[in-house]
Amino acid sequence: MEVLILCAVLIAAIGVLAYNRASLTMFTAAIVVILAVGSAFDLVGTLGWLIFLAIALPLNIASVRQQYLTKPLLKLYRKIMPEMSSTEKEAIDAGTTWWEADLFRGNPDWHKMHNFPVPRLSAEEQAFLDGPVEELLTMVDDWHTTHERADLTPEVYQYLKDKGFFAMIIKKEYGGLEFSAYAQSCVLQKLTSKSMVLSSVVGVPNSLGPGELLQHYGTDEQKKHYLPRLAKGLEVPCFALTSPEAGSDAGAIPDTGIICKGEWEGKEVIGMRLTWNKRYITLAPIATVLGLAFKLYDPDNLIGDKEELGITCALIPVTTPGVKIGRRHFPLNVPFQNGPTQGDNIFVPLDYIIGGVKMAGQGWRMLVECLSVGRAITLPSNSTGGIKAVALATGAYARIRRQFKLPIGKMEGVEEAMARIGGYAYMADASTTMSVGSIDLGEKPSVISAITKYHMTERMRQAIIDAMDIHGGKGICMGPNNYLARGYQGAPVAITVEGANILTRNMIIYGQGAIRCHPYVLAELQAAQLEDQGAAVTAFDKALFGHIGFAISNFFRAFWLSLTGGAFSSSPYNDATAKYYKQMNRFSAAMALMSDVAMGTLGGDLKRRERISARLGDILSMLYLTSAVLKRYNDEGRKIDDLPLVQWACEDNLAKAQLALNELFDNFPNRLVGVVLKRVVFPWGRTLSKASDITEHKVARIMQTPGEARSRLGHHMYLTNEPQNQLGLMEQALLDVLAAEPVFDKVTHAAGKRLPFFRLNEVADLGLELKVISEAEANILRTAEKGRLFAINVDDFEPEYLAADKTLTQQGPGAVAKDKKDKAA
Ligand SMILES: Cc1cc2nc3c(=O)[nH]c(=O)nc-3n(C[C@H](O)[C@H](O)[C@H](O)COP(=O)(O)OP(=O)(O)OC[C@H]3O[C@@H](n4cnc5c(N)ncnc54)[C@H](O)[C@@H]3O)c2cc1C
Repeated sequence: MEVLILCAVLIAAIGVLAYNRASLTMFTAAIVVILAVGSAFDLVGTLGWLIFLAIALPLNIASVRQQYLTKPLLKLYRKIMPEMSSTEKEAIDAGTTWWEADLFRGNPDWHKMHNFPVPRLSAEEQAFLDGPVEELLTMVDDWHTTHERADLTPEVYQYLKDKGFFAMIIKKEYGGLEFSAYAQSCVLQKLTSKSMVLSSVVGVPNSLGPGELLQHYGTDEQKKHYLPRLAKGLEVPCFALTSPEAGSDAGAIPDTGIICKGEWEGKEVIGMRLTWNKRYITLAPIATVLGLAFKLYDPDNLIGDKEELGITCALIPVTTPGVKIGRRHFPLNVPFQNGPTQGDNIFVPLDYIIGGVKMAGQGWRMLVECLSVGRAITLPSNSTGGIKAVALATGAYARIRRQFKLPIGKMEGVEEAMARIGGYAYMADASTTMSVGSIDLGEKPSVISAITKYHMTERMRQAIIDAMDIHGGKGICMGPNNYLARGYQGAPVAITVEGANILTRNMIIYGQGAIRCHPYVLAELQAAQLEDQGAAVTAFDKALFGHIGFAISNFFRAFWLSLTGGAFSSSPYNDATAKYYKQMNRFSAAMALMSDVAMGTLGGDLKRRERISARLGDILSMLYLTSAVLKRYNDEGRKIDDLPLVQWACEDNLAKAQLALNELFDNFPNRLVGVVLKRVVFPWGRTLSKASDITEHKVARIMQTPGEARSRLGHHMYLTNEPQNQLGLMEQALLDVLAAEPVFDKVTHAAGKRLPFFRLNEVADLGLELKVISEAEANILRTAEKGRLFAINVDDFEPEYLAADKTLTQQGPGAVAKDKKDKAA
């Protein structure tokens, strides 16, 4: 019995020390004390001490450990680790890690998170949002842009150039606006709330492209020449990486540059002959300068002894003889300028390479580094703007539109879909703000940018689908009055670009995250690559034994936190949000444990087991998104009215994290490991569920009730009440209808019968007749009727207006079909 107690004390001590990430020395000392107590009570004999010494001595004496343990393990490690391609290495080395690394490591410090500064707009940035951005938006008519012209107007392009919209990232010394990432995000969100075409056109030059590449890697001459011209809009840039043969696998582009001698401006110089065939290039049809990625070769060793230099980026003026550019693709009825470009054996000088000859072959690194920043700004901001606009419009519509004598937003079924939109809107703003905030702190957050890009674009797609369902036919019939359809059509664009989402989820988030965020894996990889054997063993020893201690700690942490539901773990606040922090402590430890188990059991094969990687990435993503929600709530002063939104978002994320973990166990390639660890992490089964019906009801109510919580949900949206702004008009209609409801009630009460809430003009007349309302109140009813009709009505057209080829409709019904048949024949 005493021996059993001693064993229990030993295990408990190991558990407590491991939970608190104690050092090896602490472990050894604690076990010595316990064994000594055991010896004093005659419970531990010589054999026990011998076993202890046999384990403890080699572990604690570095030279012995390195010779007999580390060296053979390093040999084995080198044998089993798969070769990494240079593009993979560069992708992993690109960028930095930030808060997501803390979440990944199993023991997040919540005070650290809450102490990250809150992103704020400078006075100049705020003035830009209130001035040029507002003015620009009044100039854009989205229906005209998307249907009638398939482009923005020349006046809008000129305004964009004149006011520096294409130069938000360009430094002031070159004439740019040099805005913070947060300001860029706010501008893009606001633009999206009226026109996706506009936000795409503005987003691209400010994202990955010539401006960004030049600022980071350009030569002085290139910067001096191009940046002021880009800032003034004298140059319009595009960047061409994607080829028909290489989309997601962009490192495999077949486009080439061959270094050779040739004639340039009357002189023989060393240059390159470029051949490319690119497609899907945003702004290409109107670009004046083409950023081009290609593989550079030097077969005659004209610039060095390497024949294959690798991916290189250059800037090619589109007026260069032979450059083919100008044709357009037609991306899903969201017709921003996008098209192909080709060139065949075009000779250009070497100083067209961005950064000059010294940057030859450095293109991939340049791209992935810039992408770690750009990917966190443009698409997440456009998506967030889209979700927030949809949340406001849907809230207003659901409150105004009545069926079965009730606003549809009061029906439980509709509330479910509304809550998803509202919860996503709150979370999207929180996550995008946190991610762009990290850029303003100097980070290049490669993992966070992938998480934010993937989840914001996916949430935007879901939000717009829900909004379409709620709007019914109003969402389906297109025309100037339809504020949803272009978003619905265009959602797959954001899903596809800058890393198509299936790839982003399955390969990028965890693929980069595991190596970048893990405290030891990158160090192990780097140690194994060292050529000096002594240095390799020392570095590998440090990383490996750190890793082993970390893994043991995570096991105990995951087990204890799961057993107790995280109840005794830390939370910075002791209110309704405490349980979310505690659950995150639990999932963070489980994530760290499963990550090591997956890497340990699958090794290099994990790269191919995409669905395992995807689920681990999902858990990391959910932790990040939930933490962003809690940070937003805190940064905005813990406003109790926002709590339902916070609860909905946290509960949705945590339920998704639980699902991902469960699927991970159920599909874990090593079945025994899966079954055993499922017991460790889910000792009581799956205990979390999604937000309750009551929470969903509260979220739906916030979306339909003008007030501070709703305004915070839709901040930075374009709500100006002008004829082309459907969102602004819907906001006004909501206010008008709500103002009319008490007047309507007065009349129905006096009339002694329940009238339907339409034809409010007639209700106004009745009220006046019954002398129960004033003329001013009658006007409230009349105004509300106008708003109500605006909100529920859809467009219709003369038949010939809709056909792209007007000549066919003029020939009467059936002409289009006949023409098609004739052409086929
Ligand atoms: C409107 C638009 C604008 C664009 N703008 C530009 C631009 O300005 N410049 C530029 O260079 N490019 C641009 N692109 C290209 C864009 O980046 C590519 O479309 C994208 O990289 C995907 O390539 P793909 O379309 O060829 O799809 P594919 O690579 O053929 O992928 C098809 C599907 O397979 C999935 N997939 C591929 N590999 C894997 C994998 N290993 N694991 C899991 N899933 C995988 C993808 O996620 C995707 O779902 C644009 C594209 C569009 C549509």
